[in-house]
Amino acid sequence: MSALPFLPFTRPEIDEETIAGVADVLRSGWITSGPQVKAFEAALSAYFGGRPVRALSSATGALELALEIAGVKAGDEVITTPLSWVATANVIVRLGAKPVFVDIDPATRLIDLDRIEAAISPRTRAIIPVDLAGLPVDRDRLYAIANQHGLRVIEDAAQSMGSTWNGRRIGSFGDLVCISFHANKNLTTGEGGCLVLNDDAEARRCELLRLQGVVRLPDGGQEVEVVGAKLNLTDIAARIGLGQLPHLERFNARRAVLARRYFERFDRSLGCDLPPQAAPGSNWHMFQIVLPLPRLAIGRGDFLKGMQERGIGAGVHYPAMHLFKLFRDLGYGEGDFPHAERVGAGIVTLPLFPGMSEDDVDRVCEAVRDILAPVLTPAHR
Ligand SMILES: *Cc1c(COP(=O)(O)O)cnc(C)c1O
Repeated sequence: MSALPFLPFTRPEIDEETIAGVADVLRSGWITSGPQVKAFEAALSAYFGGRPVRALSSATGALELALEIAGVKAGDEVITTPLSWVATANVIVRLGAKPVFVDIDPATRLIDLDRIEAAISPRTRAIIPVDLAGLPVDRDRLYAIANQHGLRVIEDAAQSMGSTWNGRRIGSFGDLVCISFHANKNLTTGEGGCLVLNDDAEARRCELLRLQGVVRLPDGGQEVEVVGAKLNLTDIAARIGLGQLPHLERFNARRAVLARRYFERFDRSLGCDLPPQAAPGSNWHMFQIVLPLPRLAIGRGDFLKGMQERGIGAGVHYPAMHLFKLFRDLGYGEGDFPHAERVGAGIVTLPLFPGMSEDDVDRVCEAVRDILAPVLTPAHR
């Protein structure tokens, strides 16, 4: 149908210098955690204002270790949003703790800070805020609530690499901060992530937990006191990250330009919710619309298929997770979090990545109009 090349919803930007650097690592004879990981951690620590940072094989792993380092145990409760990648709540369940969901603010699609205090119980140990699409949760209010109630904060900043709050980089302040370098994120190592910690003691504990809990003794022997995981990053991946980091600000600036183009070109008469346009501090990880499903003669699946037929990729990030069987079995159900349910049912991620052109944005906007205009019921007064 379309003569134009397929436009995916995202695509990593890996330059030739990085590819050559990875080839050097492959030839070096040391491809697992080694000098590249050390260098990547040092670069990340500098990026985050000198805080300790440890590289891990995923942000999911960072969340798991952060919960453990924060002392969250089986039977504890952890407050989070239902509108996130399921990793955010899976890590809580895997620890034997209970995810306590709090509905979103539909304007930001982020956890509604006004509703957190009502969800706090004597068993609450921590809050996991999620910066969906890279838009930061209000850190001033979040930490005021956490401090007042003696709760730890484990930031699911998986999508927030390069985002800022009041001009300060996410990760450069706060409690434990988990960032992802998955292939779709603003900075990628293929798979990977990091945990930003408060002090050297936490960093040492993170090192221990990420690699089987093994302590190497001066006499060449080993000791193990804790059950560790296996979450270290490879030097191959770390070298990709080192090649990405110098370009991050440019990548994110380009994303902001393309987001602005969407706001200029998107047909508001189609009844879709757009993201908050001001979006202070966002790294524009995603540009997401919410389809006006009650006014459409088609479903989201038909819309996605229509985009595909027009040579355009689109994604769903994410359905409200409390409706997944895993969480229904914990007692959640339809109607618990109406804002997350409405947004989660209609949300669609449109293409946005630094390698896109302005014409690509225009093409997406035209495709959306082409699909929706003929099937849209006029709005009632
Ligand atoms: C990507 C993502 C994760 C998980 O990151 P991985 O590195 O894939 O484990 C967790 N939470 C959110 C919000 C994410 O977007």
